[in-house]
Amino acid sequence: MAKKKKSKREYVWLECGDCGQRNYRTEISVAEGAPKLELQKYCKSERKRTTHKIRRK
Ligand SMILES: [Zn+2]
Repeated sequence: MAKKKKSKREYVWLECGDCGQRNYRTEISVAEGAPKLELQKYCKSERKRTTHKIRRK
């Protein structure tokens, strides 16, 4: 059995689905299976809330 770290975290970007701009940098936990892939966030360049997708490095 492989060892698992309880607090496995990863830094990701939240990229706007409309204009493709990376507006947020956030930390997600990858220990609890698949993380949420889409979030409603405010896009600064478009001045509205859009769907942001998680982008790994
Ligand atoms: Zn945008």
